Amino acid sequence: MPTPELGAAVCRVRLATICGSDLHTWRGRRQEPAPLVLGHEIVGEVVALGEGLTADATGAPLCVGDRVTWSIMACCGACWNCTHGLPQKCAALKKYGHTCCDDGVPLSGGYAEHVYLWPGTAIYRVPAALPDEVAAPANCALATVVNAFETIEAAAGERVLIQGAGMLGLYAAAWAKELGMGPVIMCDVNAERLALAMRFGADQVVDLSTMPAADCVSALRALSGGRGVDVAIEVSGASAAVPLAVEALRIGGRYLVAGLVTPGNPLDIDGNTLTRKCLTLRGIHNYRPEHLGQALRFLETTAGRYPYAALVGAVYPLEDLEAAFETAESGAYVRVGVAPGNNG
Ligand SMILES: [Zn+2]
Ligand SMILES: [Zn+2]
Repeated sequence: MPTPELGAAVCRVRLATICGSDLHTWRGRRQEPAPLVLGHEIVGEVVALGEGLTADATGAPLCVGDRVTWSIMACCGACWNCTHGLPQKCAALKKYGHTCCDDGVPLSGGYAEHVYLWPGTAIYRVPAALPDEVAAPANCALATVVNAFETIEAAAGERVLIQGAGMLGLYAAAWAKELGMGPVIMCDVNAERLALAMRFGADQVVDLSTMPAADCVSALRALSGGRGVDVAIEVSGASAAVPLAVEALRIGGRYLVAGLVTPGNPLDIDGNTLTRKCLTLRGIHNYRPEHLGQALRFLETTAGRYPYAALVGAVYPLEDLEAAFETAESGAYVRVGVAPGNNG
């Protein structure tokens, strides 16, 4: 185990969940520098703190033995992107589960016994009431959703369409509900996931697998009172979702695209529609550290209202990582976990 440098830490991994992006990398749908340790949705326990690291991102004391999670990336805090609200695009960016082991410290991902937390990582202590399986996906999935709602300036009373009932979509439904948006309309091609969406705050669901595209638009318009939705959020990973939302949005509507994280996703939309409908189209990727803090607070305050723990359907020991990935890819569960200390 390495000794942490100034401002760094070492954590023992308690649980790491498998994100869709891990599956993309595993299957070669996107390229990452190898060799690397995958896994970035992690809850760990601090086992060593480098000099100068005495507090978490909220300013509370940080000690060996604390149960923590941390931002998906470490950033310098000084480059142009860091000082202009985009630290996740830092010029010296290091991302957990995405950084080549040859870059120095090999313990950079969650599917391992330990992770090395680089200086510039925002570390948060996990509230005691949140089990590991509830807190782990906050780093990535929920924090990205927090960024999405902030970026698109979603507000109470607005009609919202959420495209994709995966981890991000289910969190998005709960966030929209708590924000006071409504109706919260969810679409997907998976009836089981849509049923789950109803337990996470969706008011209406549209199963796209059961109707032609043109009927989907009219169904979505009918559900939004005929005018169209005020806000649409894409977290499906399917570029075919984009023309559907462009049609379903009202005049002056706002569209946030967050799910298209693999190359090769051209959009089949008519620019004329964008112009004439006065639409806002925004993309986001990852999040700023404070979004993770908001995500953890949200889980803590809404834990009794949504079945978060049920989203992690299976936890595998680290030795069975291949089987864990196979199960995650099967779609049987929204999330699959990997726990080094779990031997069956
Ligand atoms: Zn992820
Ligand atoms: Zn930077």
